[in-house]
Amino acid sequence: MDKTKGQALKEKLFNNKKSGWETVSDSEKQEIFKFADEYMYYLNSSKTEKEIVSTTKEILLKNNFKDLKTVETLNAGDKIFYINKDRSIYMAVIGSEDIEKGLNIVAAHGDSPRLDLKPNPLYEQEGIAYFKTHYYGGIRKYQWATIPLSLHGLFVKPNGEKISVIIGENDDEPTFLISDLPPHLSMNQNDRKLVNGIKGEELNIMVGSIPYSEEGLSDKIKLNILNLLNERYGIKEIDFTSSEIEFVPAFKARSLGFDESLISAYGQDDKVCCYTALRGILNIENPSKTAVCVLTDKEEIGFEGVTGMWSKVFDTFIIELIDKMGQNRPNLLERVFSNSKVLSSDVDAGYDPGFPDAFDKKNASVLGGGVTIVKYTGSRGKSGASESPAEFIAEVRKVFDDAGVPYQSSDMGKVDLGGGGTIAVCFSQRGMTVLDCGVPVLAMHSPYEITSKFDVYKAYKAYEAFFKI
Ligand code: MN
Ligand code: MN
Repeated sequence: MDKTKGQALKEKLFNNKKSGWETVSDSEKQEIFKFADEYMYYLNSSKTEKEIVSTTKEILLKNNFKDLKTVETLNAGDKIFYINKDRSIYMAVIGSEDIEKGLNIVAAHGDSPRLDLKPNPLYEQEGIAYFKTHYYGGIRKYQWATIPLSLHGLFVKPNGEKISVIIGENDDEPTFLISDLPPHLSMNQNDRKLVNGIKGEELNIMVGSIPYSEEGLSDKIKLNILNLLNERYGIKEIDFTSSEIEFVPAFKARSLGFDESLISAYGQDDKVCCYTALRGILNIENPSKTAVCVLTDKEEIGFEGVTGMWSKVFDTFIIELIDKMGQNRPNLLERVFSNSKVLSSDVDAGYDPGFPDAFDKKNASVLGGGVTIVKYTGSRGKSGASESPAEFIAEVRKVFDDAGVPYQSSDMGKVDLGGGGTIAVCFSQRGMTVLDCGVPVLAMHSPYEITSKFDVYKAYKAYEAFFKI
């Protein structure tokens, strides 16, 4: 039957949203699932910002990228990377056009919410030894009790010796845990507001229970733990002073659902954009503009610190690039920056059908809807946003349309309910035009976040296309 005039008009004029899965052929579905397997493999070996840098470096070396420090001169087509203090990594494929015309940058962050240790963490109490923690980033604290945690740590001795420790990722290793009350005894705790279900000072991790066997000593369990750490790693209690010990969920990334269309994993904010941007730049050969991929650190605590996106080390990286291209001249950096285009690639809180009240459904990204364009972030009247100009969004739309990348556009949650910011501001402050564009995630910042394999694959295609403009 022919369409009515109204039906045809509606098809032509409405922004008709449908599940991306309905547009996928069998062979593309296979590609999407294969890409998701590779992504999950990357996640399992990249749970911290330092591991993101080390696993990414390994992948880059296998794909003919060279450490910028080992390269004297740069020419069009060259592929290099720059590691900032083992915690953030910048990579580039040199373009054939004058660099003054700007860079195409995709920037993600490798740090994720987690539990860090306090500087004096170890104590014992009534038969159990604990570590005291100070959480990193925005977590819902009650979600972090009674789940297996793994330890990812770095101790640095005053003589410069570095000791890296990972415990709890392999099945034959122990894990760690924060306890909680049984329902039988939780009447008082149940009256707490959810935000205080588990309080910050209750996020204490169980680390042992066997006392050192000698009569008459106090703190015998703590002593036994320190003795084990000393025997295995040469560590004393004072060495926690110069350590970074991160506890993360010990879970592996897994497919979710009978149809295996989704991924549940720790740290997908924002490792999903790290991996998809990385895979995008691996495909770039001889671009006209220089393509730059950034995997930064400290996003979750405000972009500060020498490895965060406010850090001038990123500028130093670009200055080194133009030096080694034999291009440097006064104010070139500012001109490069003012002509650069950036996708701030971070996740968005996707629409969760289980909690419809938190969202404006008409303006929420959905799982399986493709990458999401976020014109502005911020909270309560766009405060803190780096709002992207319509002209740039139009340009990005064309890039995605030409590459066959489906996109949706969203505004995180209901107005005045909360909000958030991204590293977009760090680029606009440098004079660059920037747009937030990422992947919808459910249960963001929880120990086990959810994405759609469709969106993950399309983010890879989106970033690859953007590097090529
Ligand atoms: Mn993020
Ligand atoms: Mn986040």
